[in-house]
Amino acid sequence: MSRTAFREMLGALAIEPGQHLLIHSSFKALKKAFPNLNAADFIKILQEKVSSEGSLLMPVFTYCFRRTSGDYERFSRDHSPSKTGWLTEYFRRQPDALRTASPTHSFALWGKVGLEYDSKIIPHSPLGKDSPLDWLAQKEKSAILMLGTDFHSLSFGHYLEIIHQAPWADLNPWTYMGVEKIGADESADIPLKEIPGCSQSFINFEKYIQKHIKLAEFICNDQRFRKVTIPELLHYGEYYFRLHTNELLCPAGNCQACDTRRNKLK
Ligand SMILES: [Zn+2]
Repeated sequence: MSRTAFREMLGALAIEPGQHLLIHSSFKALKKAFPNLNAADFIKILQEKVSSEGSLLMPVFTYCFRRTSGDYERFSRDHSPSKTGWLTEYFRRQPDALRTASPTHSFALWGKVGLEYDSKIIPHSPLGKDSPLDWLAQKEKSAILMLGTDFHSLSFGHYLEIIHQAPWADLNPWTYMGVEKIGADESADIPLKEIPGCSQSFINFEKYIQKHIKLAEFICNDQRFRKVTIPELLHYGEYYFRLHTNELLCPAGNCQACDTRRNKLK
């Protein structure tokens, strides 16, 4: 039953062979909507839908930055567990999944992307140039699946900040937490050009897009599953990220990371 409903959801979102999907998921939402769907089914059904001509990508971020306190973890590509949810860690551990090499923002990959993207690259911009998001941006048939999530977790928003040169994109917003602009890999320190900041206000970009288009949507047991295509994000992002940059930081006094960036601009 749950498996059928999950397939139906992917059908309603027009998921098809040859598509490259970045998946952001809430395990809780998936459990509510599809109570009997296990992680193995989840992955197998998605693989069937996109086929080996398509790709699946999931964030398996570990945030291994060097820290001024000296107390931090170093990233092991093989062993560091994902800090972005149980399901992403399960996906990473599949024998046919690859993991990319950014100590801070790695992705687990399956399918075509694993053949085309060199997973050993350590990009100096973890979600910018040379990252898996940059690969995805070059693909016409690419999309982001938001399974019970919204633009708060839209990693692609950071990519848009960088390519559209938001004025703070290269400012480190996490200095107040002792985070340095350096990735801590197990074998080396990796100097970073840009590091992703706070994504709370990407919700404003979501509202903006929804004024113009209706995103593909499927509701099941009160849980919302949606798809936004990469060409849609690039198209609307070009305008929004250039002209509405002030809406991309949290309002002053609400968020130390966004305030850090705003203050450094003065
Ligand atoms: Zn913020």
